Amino acid sequence: MTDIRLEGLTRRYGSVTALDGLTLDIGGGTVTALLGPSGCGKTTALKLVAGLLDPSGGQVLFDGHDVTDVPAERRGAVMVFQDHRLFPYLSAGDNVAFGLKMRGVPRRQRRREAEAVLERVGLDGLADRHPAELSGGQQQRVALARALILQPEVLLLDEPLANLDAHLREGMRELILDVQRERDLTTVVVTHDQEEAVVLSEDIALLFDGRLHQHGAPRTFFEHPATERTARFFGAANLVAGRRHGDRVHTPLGSLRVPDGTPGGPDVWLTVRPERLVVGDTPAADGQHVQGRVVSSAFLGTRTRATVEVAGVRLTVDVADDALADVGPGSLLTLGLPAEALWTVPREATAGPTPRAADELGPVAASADGTVTSPPDRRTQP
Ligand code: ADP
Ligand code: MG
Repeated sequence: MTDIRLEGLTRRYGSVTALDGLTLDIGGGTVTALLGPSGCGKTTALKLVAGLLDPSGGQVLFDGHDVTDVPAERRGAVMVFQDHRLFPYLSAGDNVAFGLKMRGVPRRQRRREAEAVLERVGLDGLADRHPAELSGGQQQRVALARALILQPEVLLLDEPLANLDAHLREGMRELILDVQRERDLTTVVVTHDQEEAVVLSEDIALLFDGRLHQHGAPRTFFEHPATERTARFFGAANLVAGRRHGDRVHTPLGSLRVPDGTPGGPDVWLTVRPERLVVGDTPAADGQHVQGRVVSSAFLGTRTRATVEVAGVRLTVDVADDALADVGPGSLLTLGLPAEALWTVPREATAGPTPRAADELGPVAASADGTVTSPPDRRTQP
C-alpha cells in the first residue's frame, strides 16, 4: 500500500508539453483513474510514475519519499502497456516468468510461480502457448500476470479494457479489482473512456491538454461537474444557456430553482442529465415542470431515449425500459425538472457557442449538439 504524490509533474517532447504541472495525490490501496481524451498526457503521466521516462520538471513521491531519480526496477511500480508488448517468441509461461529471470530466480521456481499467477488470472494450463495462440483477452491476462509476478506495490494499467469486447471487459474488470483488493495494490488506471473510469476507480483525475482539470469521486463528475468541458465529457447532453439570479436561473424553459452552491454566474449553462428529467403527468415535488413536444424517440434495449422540444430547446430524455415506446413524434409530454436534478456550470464568452451577448439576445438556448437557438417568439419560421 503505497501513497503516491505527484508534484508539478511536467514532461515536454521538444516544443510539445505532454504533461503540464500535474499535482495529484493518489491514496495507498485505492484505484485512481487518469481520464481524458486521446493525447491529453495520460500515458506520459503513467510512464513518469513507473520511472520509464524522466520528467522535464516536478517530482514523484512514494510514501513521502522522492523517487524521481529511482530507476523503474527499484520503484516497486509495474506498468502494463496498452499493447501488452508480450514477447512473441516466448511461451505465455516464459513471458510471465521473464521478470523473475532478470532477477536471477532459478528456473524451476520461476516456472512454479508463473503457473500460479497464470492460474490466478484464469489461464491455468495455457503456460506453453505462444501469444499468437491466445485471444486478445488472454494476452491481456498474460500481460497482467507478468506484472503481478513481480509482487509490485503499485500497479499501473494503460487502457486495460480498451481492446476487449464488451463481454470480456466485465471479466477483466472484476479480475483487476479482485487482485487489487487481495494485494492492497495502489492502482492507477489510464483510460479515455468515462464509463471505464467510473466502473474501475474510486477516484478520477480528469486531464485536458496535459493539465489536471477536475479531481474527485466518480459521482461528482456526473452530478457536479465544475465546467462545461467536464459536463460535456461526461455526457451531459442538455446544456441550456441561462442567467442566474440568486438560486434561480432564467432560461427559455422558464425560471428554474437550482440547488445551493452550483457554480458560475451570472452567465451559466443549466445542465440536467437525460435520466434525471421526470417524464409523466405527475409534476416534480417542487412543481417545476415544462411541457414539450416529442421530436423523436428510440428504444435502446434497456432504456428509451427521446428528443423533446420545449420552447425552442431540444432536450434529450432517457427513461428506463420502453415506457415511451408508444409516444410518437408530435405527442405532448410533461417533463419534471426537480431542483435537485439541475446543476449549472459557468458559461464563458469563449467556451459556449453564443453568437451575441446574452443581454442583447435575451435568453438563449443550446441544444444537445451545441447549436444555439433564440427563444421561440423570435425565431424565424420557415
Ligand atoms: P494519451 O496517453 O493521453 O493519449 P500521451 O501521453 O501518449 O497521451 O501523449 C501526450 C502528448 O505528447 C501527445 O500530444 C503526443 O503526441 C505527445 N507525445 C507522446 N509521446 C511522444 C514522443 N515520444 N515524442 C513526441 N511527442 C510525444
Ligand atoms: Mg495513451
